[in-house]
Amino acid sequence: QKQVFRISTGSANLDKLLGGGVESMSITQVFGESGAGKTQIAHTLCVTAQIPTNGYPGGKVMFIDTEHTFRPERIRHVARRFSLNEKSVLENVLYARAYNSEHQYELLKKFVGGKFHEEVGMFRLLIVDSIISLFRVDFLGRGELVSRQQKLGQMMSLLQKISEEYNVAVLITNQMTSDFRTFPLLNMDENGKPVGGNILAHSSTTRVSLKKVAGNVRIAKMLDSPDQEETEEAFLITTGGIRD
Ligand code: ATP
Ligand code: MG
Repeated sequence: QKQVFRISTGSANLDKLLGGGVESMSITQVFGESGAGKTQIAHTLCVTAQIPTNGYPGGKVMFIDTEHTFRPERIRHVARRFSLNEKSVLENVLYARAYNSEHQYELLKKFVGGKFHEEVGMFRLLIVDSIISLFRVDFLGRGELVSRQQKLGQMMSLLQKISEEYNVAVLITNQMTSDFRTFPLLNMDENGKPVGGNILAHSSTTRVSLKKVAGNVRIAKMLDSPDQEETEEAFLITTGGIRD
């Protein structure tokens, strides 16, 4: 009786690319270089997730921040764009800062057993921005690659479980290095080694890559989605969030 829903991104073009928006009971990965707009998409979704639409009741958002780039001020700007009460919009975003990869995992586990569980049905969106940055710090050496992939895989399984069990949309962001262009299906580290990429590619249902074009224009491209074509769409980054 779980009804899959999609949350609008604030851009009709990006929604179209995603087949209607960010889908529940699945993991959507947004990746791209620094400044591509990953965090701004996350901020916008914090607000749009609270707006009821046809067949979607709207709900609260959990935001796990690993890079300390969450900005309440940005949320306020987006809320203003949609003529929503800034204070109540912010109150519906449960914010947690993760300090290391272990902590990131614990936060998610606590989420499953704790507050989230009690309020199941109220939370509709879980954001992890970014999924891998703390793993890059915690597992530095080449010798730690295996355990890093293992931990990353565990976390992706947990995210998948959360999305399905509680019918929430999961959005994860992933910063790509410039090597990505040469190896489009892998996430390479500074040494050209695939890190996280294999795991993240295989355990995300939907992957969207972002490309900077000029100024605030961005191009989003859908990769290996099970039911969408590999098309491209343009969107804009504005103070009020992303839009066409
Ligand atoms: P990183 O990988 O470094 O975290 P990102 O993909 O998360 O990068 P964002 O932080 O979303 O990138 O920023 C994307 C672009 O949007 C940047 O060029 C930034 O200057 C711009 N930007 C951020 N906030 C606003 C805003 N409120 N109004 C207009 N532009 C903004
Ligand atoms: Mg960011």
